[in-house]
Amino acid sequence: MNTVKIRGLEVVCRHGVNDFEKVEPHPFIFDADVETDFFSATQSDCLDGTVNYSSVCKLITGIAQNNVFNLIEKLAYECAFSVMETFPAVKKITLTVWKPEAPMKCRFEKVGVTFSVERETAYLSLGSSMGDRQGYIDKALKLLSKERGITVLKVSDCIETAPYGGVAQNGFLNCAAAVSVLLTPHNLLDVIHKIESACERERKERWGDRTLDIDIVFFGDKKVCDERLTIPHPDWQNRDFVKIPLKSIAPHLVK
Ligand code: ATP
Ligand code: MG
Ligand code: MG
Repeated sequence: MNTVKIRGLEVVCRHGVNDFEKVEPHPFIFDADVETDFFSATQSDCLDGTVNYSSVCKLITGIAQNNVFNLIEKLAYECAFSVMETFPAVKKITLTVWKPEAPMKCRFEKVGVTFSVERETAYLSLGSSMGDRQGYIDKALKLLSKERGITVLKVSDCIETAPYGGVAQNGFLNCAAAVSVLLTPHNLLDVIHKIESACERERKERWGDRTLDIDIVFFGDKKVCDERLTIPHPDWQNRDFVKIPLKSIAPHLVK
């Protein structure tokens, strides 16, 4: 990946937890590493093939000037997300906000925060075996697409499958979805749990009947293994109800 670098962009604006900081403008300094593949621009010598640093600076300046936030963490998040949403060719941004005039009674050069956002394609497996199964899957896809940082790219047809694991009694509807995400794997899991709850998911017994289950099968080529999350999903290769819909939208992932 190639990087467009911005250093020392100064914006005078009003952010801070103190009331006077929200009234009296003071300087904030932005550094950004914008990762994108600009090889085509090296060949064409045209701006089309890269990310225009002037446009990125304008966007960050506008967000900083047109909002009043308490925290530089929030300012960094808003700027980084907006760059990712505005420039689809950006794969990752690492953005630092410095606050050289933070109101502190000590000698310091500057304080700041760094926030990173990376674009990944994740593959989800969705299933339902209770109530209005198609309704729950449709609702889940709608709620996913409403989340900031998630774009639903592709959804497979739903297939009718037999219960798995010897606990559930009802037939399942299963499908797979490809989603572009600006979230970390753990942030995506939190969103999934929120959506499962909104669809009345109850966890009584493992592999029991459920209104909605959403599992993360892949998250780019990232591997995760901790107490909350295992990616790729540890059992996906043993499950036709995952593999068949997934193959229909991403044949390269399933042999
Ligand atoms: P299975 O994961 O075998 O299909 P399940 O989907 O019925 O079983 P859940 O009750 O939905 O299991 O999830 C139990 C926990 O599994 C979740 O709270 C989550 O923390 C964890 N988990 C680990 N890896 C994943 C993953 N790749 N996708 C979703 N949840 C995961
Ligand atoms: Mg599951
Ligand atoms: Mg699950």
